[in-house]
Amino acid sequence: MAACGRCGRPLKTPESVRDGYGPICKRKQEEAEAEFLRIQVTIDEELEYQKKVKR
Ligand SMILES: [Zn+2]
Repeated sequence: MAACGRCGRPLKTPESVRDGYGPICKRKQEEAEAEFLRIQVTIDEELEYQKKVKR
């Protein structure tokens, strides 16, 4: 049986199995990914800034 990729509980619906997460964990995972992408952009901007400062 498929298990949630976040909390490890068994997935009960075909949608959850397809997503790899239960409905609540899917939403949390999407929020975490959005946050990660936001931080990623910030790091890229920071690195770009530091490159400019060194020159
Ligand atoms: Zn879960």
